[in-house]
Amino acid sequence: MTTLASRPAAKQHRPKNTPPSNFSSPVFDEVGLPSDPNNLYRQTVGSMLYAAQVMNLPNGFQLILAQPKNEIMVHFPVRMDDGSYRLFKGYRVQHNNALGPFKGGLRFHPDVHLDDVKSLSFLMTMKCSLAGLPYGGGKGGIKVDPRKHSSGEMERIVRRFTTAIAHNIGPDYDIPAPDVGSSAQHMAWIADTYSFLSEATGKNANAVITGKPVESGGSLGREKATGQGVVDTLEIMLPELGLDISHITFSVLGYGNVGSWAGRILAAKGGKMTAVADHTGFLKNEKGIDTVALADHVAKTGGVRGFTGATSCTKEDFYKTKVDVFVPAALEQMVQEEEARMLNCIVVAEGANAPTTPAGERVLLERGIEVLPAILCNAGGVTVSYFEWVQNLTFHSWELDRVDRELNKHMVDAANRTKAARQKYDCDLRTAAYIAALERLRKVYELRGIFP
Ligand code: GLU
Repeated sequence: MTTLASRPAAKQHRPKNTPPSNFSSPVFDEVGLPSDPNNLYRQTVGSMLYAAQVMNLPNGFQLILAQPKNEIMVHFPVRMDDGSYRLFKGYRVQHNNALGPFKGGLRFHPDVHLDDVKSLSFLMTMKCSLAGLPYGGGKGGIKVDPRKHSSGEMERIVRRFTTAIAHNIGPDYDIPAPDVGSSAQHMAWIADTYSFLSEATGKNANAVITGKPVESGGSLGREKATGQGVVDTLEIMLPELGLDISHITFSVLGYGNVGSWAGRILAAKGGKMTAVADHTGFLKNEKGIDTVALADHVAKTGGVRGFTGATSCTKEDFYKTKVDVFVPAALEQMVQEEEARMLNCIVVAEGANAPTTPAGERVLLERGIEVLPAILCNAGGVTVSYFEWVQNLTFHSWELDRVDRELNKHMVDAANRTKAARQKYDCDLRTAAYIAALERLRKVYELRGIFP
């Protein structure tokens, strides 16, 4: 196998069915989706509706999946350290529970808004279906910048938010988890608050949330799970592109939980990270960046800026760095047309949710760059969340080996079903991943029917 980033991409088959730039579906109007083509919800649901069209999914199922079941918005006051009060806004969107309880993370970020949470909750339904988990999709969040609050303030914000949504979550109904900006510590506070509020019900309250600290009902391997899943997906998909995971070069956008774990695990397998970026800056080092030292630096300083093992570069330099694999692991809509034109890679492995816009994806597909879609590539996190939930409900704890092995089985199965759909429908990988996810949902709806 060839190993150099400088060699041309393996001759790939160009799929016949890829979403056209002006894709539109009657469902957009039927369910009243926003008309702005840059709206994230319209974009994410649009990719699914294109896949639904390719596979001929009946209109009724398309309608059900094009809007979430419940959208919960709460406002709650919290006392700050200086004695003043502030009012916070929180969300929980429950997209679908045909396959099992709603499942998905909580985002703590100042830009969190309803369309964002709706999109992410929709993606969870698709991801859980593709990963073969007995879950539907949900997502929530608080409009807050956790970096601007003391630990005491965050604890009060998180506990008060939990109180506000406590009647809408539960170990067999809706199980939140971490996402951007939220941590294992936050999950521990949520579990404690929920168990205090629901003590009388006799439920296993700890199973109301996943991503908890290992000492407090969490699972071994959960912290690294999303990054591990990205690497598992690459391991399965790279050989058909003529790449050997133990010799790849790669770049990472976003060095938080997902990016830093993907980086560290890829480096441990022999890969070389030559560029990295986040909200604090862009860095480059052709000789390779120490992924572990950088993770320590980010943990201490909050960003990649100032790391001495690489030199600072421009945004353009970062995107134009020639690598085998580019891992976007930051926020949504970061790879737009401009970035897609600059990228000099063979594969984009989506560690973040919805990092590529439809216009960006068009450019990548036209340029023959393979995109491993988020619902496949970042399904590792929720899969190990599922293992944590199973361990909580059965009062067992699994060894790390078992967690990693079981995770790999789910990733291999999801990747194989995606590949099979790609072959059957001669389509791009994102469309194929949606088709594989939709096939499972279609079967369940056909068997259960729709009440009444
Ligand atoms: N927030 C993660 C995701 O987007 C994990 C969700 C979970 O573990 O439930 O997949």
